[in-house]
Amino acid sequence: MLIVLALDAPESTRTGLLAAAAAAGFEARVADDGRGRPVIGVSGDLHHDLLAMQGIDRVLPKHKPYMLASREHRQDSPSVVMVGAVPIGAGRPVIMAGPCVIEDRSSLIENARLAQAAGADILRGGAFKPRTSPYAFQGLGEDGLRYLAAAREATGMPVVTEVMEPDQVDLVAGYADMLQIGARNMANFPLLRKVGATGKPVLLKRGFSATVEEWLMSAEYILAGGNRDVVLCERGIRGFDPAFRFNLDLNAVPMAKDLSHLPVVVDPSHGTGRRQLVSRMALAGLACGADGLIVEVHPDPDNALCDGAQTITPADLAAIVRKGRAIQAALLDPTTIGAAAD
Ligand code: PEP
Ligand code: MN
Repeated sequence: MLIVLALDAPESTRTGLLAAAAAAGFEARVADDGRGRPVIGVSGDLHHDLLAMQGIDRVLPKHKPYMLASREHRQDSPSVVMVGAVPIGAGRPVIMAGPCVIEDRSSLIENARLAQAAGADILRGGAFKPRTSPYAFQGLGEDGLRYLAAAREATGMPVVTEVMEPDQVDLVAGYADMLQIGARNMANFPLLRKVGATGKPVLLKRGFSATVEEWLMSAEYILAGGNRDVVLCERGIRGFDPAFRFNLDLNAVPMAKDLSHLPVVVDPSHGTGRRQLVSRMALAGLACGADGLIVEVHPDPDNALCDGAQTITPADLAAIVRKGRAIQAALLDPTTIGAAAD
């Protein structure tokens, strides 16, 4: 259940509810509703007598299992996640771009500069790579993280990179501005707990056979650990058609935004697996309400060391950014489709 306290609720109400939850054997977490009012999430139902305490504003007894990730928990105040100085979820779509895998120092810095000139806000790049084959290039490891830090230094862009194992979290968090949990690790609960205990924002990719509810429960692990800076990423689910590597599930974007207060971004690169589809699906992602994109970009996609078939050029990215701004302006303009959509 969710219990929203009034701004002037006495401290005894908060401590009384937490003590009652503990006595009943429930987990309880205190957060706020985005407007300063404390919200207590309890993993079970407290007796109704307790809910007559002074200063209780609202009670949602039958509640979703992802109490901290749920929209009700911050009803009119969706979360904004800061990555360095870049806000995600504040209205302007955020563009994360860069190579699938970090290849070397100078090419990463060149890629970062080109992506930034094309409109990127955040640099992406894998140093530890989850490859389907154990014989495929697994990434440069800590050297890759150093190059990422050098590219941040050169461009001023914050950086996002994947962390695959709980034991790597401290190392990766020492370099990255945002920790990426890959699709294959969405339900790696020890890893989620570990990133939940860091102060770094987390980009949580949806597992390719995970339901929206399972995805939100994974976000809940991170939030329950005390880390409130989670961004969801729709990156495609497994379909039956070999025409696509994955099926970008754009249904999940407005659904996740209805169910949760967390920002949602779209990955049209993994979501299609095909370079020629990336631009149109990126724009579709923005049109259905995504707070940003994460896109694989490389100056020479055909020779990229990983995922070249789904990688676009910086010029392609610039076109996405330009058209994406036009889509957003149209959605915000009450005289055009914005009004029709409402
Ligand atoms: C990636 O972003 O490079 C990646 C491996 O993504 P996913 O976990 O979505 O497959
Ligand atoms: Mn990739």
